[in-house]
Amino acid sequence: MDHFSPNRLTVLSGPSGVGKDAVIEVVRKQAPWIWLSVSVTTRRKRDYEVDGKHYHFATRTEFERYIQEDSLLEWAEFAGNLYGTPRGPVEVRLREGIPTLLKIDLQGARQVRKAMPEAQLVFLAPPSREELRRRLTGRGTEDPDTIRRRLEHADEELAAEKEFDVTIINDYLERAADELVGLLGSPILASRN
Ligand code: ADP
Ligand code: 5GP
Repeated sequence: MDHFSPNRLTVLSGPSGVGKDAVIEVVRKQAPWIWLSVSVTTRRKRDYEVDGKHYHFATRTEFERYIQEDSLLEWAEFAGNLYGTPRGPVEVRLREGIPTLLKIDLQGARQVRKAMPEAQLVFLAPPSREELRRRLTGRGTEDPDTIRRRLEHADEELAAEKEFDVTIINDYLERAADELVGLLGSPILASRN
């Protein structure tokens, strides 16, 4: 039987605008062996996003069907939109011993903690709340009302840091990405016989 390595699952969480996507982009370049789960969402696509790469964009009806079919490992409603992790692709990667990363919100991280207690939960923190506001506003992808909702939500997310196994402060992108790559490790192919 294949070696099953559930402890290879790593969750990256943190308030909206802290830099999760930016850090992950650097990680992809530094460590192409790391597999990043592609979530399903009902949110509208941003201009720079590619369907199937950043997210699988779905309608609410489609999303509700996925829930009913139990094909999501976890899912949550965030700022008015639904987000979820397709279960099948994650299980395949873990069974193959491939370091696997989920970029999900706090509610999702809590669900993964319950479903897979051995998962590694990583919190990405901003250097300060002011810097978080600057990044969220500076990204220029959300209207003022959405930014306000995301900042309100950020306070709850920042307070949950202690529930995580490790905190990485996203001060400098490259440094934060190095730290995450270190926590994820490399494939376990060598240990197979
Ligand atoms: P998230 O995915 O957590 O919502 P993003 O990756 O979209 O956040 O980052 C939000 C904004 O902050 C982007 O404009 C991004 O370029 C910027 N940013 C991310 N990390 C850093 C950093 N370490 N230093 C300065 N700006 C950053
Ligand atoms: P955004 O709309 O900025 O891409 O993401 C908003 C929030 O949803 C972020 O905190 C992000 O981590 C979270 N998110 C993205 N995909 C998932 C997912 O599959 N499940 C959960 N629970 N949250 C997700």
